[in-house]
Amino acid sequence: MQDSQELGDDDSVRERFDRARTTLGPVQVAIGVGLVAALGFTLLFVQDPMVHDAMHNFRHGAGITCH
Ligand SMILES: [Zn+2]
Repeated sequence: MQDSQELGDDDSVRERFDRARTTLGPVQVAIGVGLVAALGFTLLFVQDPMVHDAMHNFRHGAGITCH
C-alpha cells in the first residue's frame, strides 16, 4: 500500500513537471533564464559605487531623503 502511494505521488509530480514544461515552452524558458541572468548582472552592477551614487541622487530627485 505504501509503495503504491509513493508511486502515485511520483507520477503526479512528474505530470505537473511535464505539464509545466509543455506550457512554458523552450522560448519562454530561455526568456526566464535571460531575465534571471539580467537580474544577477544588475545586482552585481548596482554594487558599483558610481551606480550607487546615481541611484542615491535619483532617490533625492524623487524626494526621498535618507540622511
Ligand atoms: Zn542621501
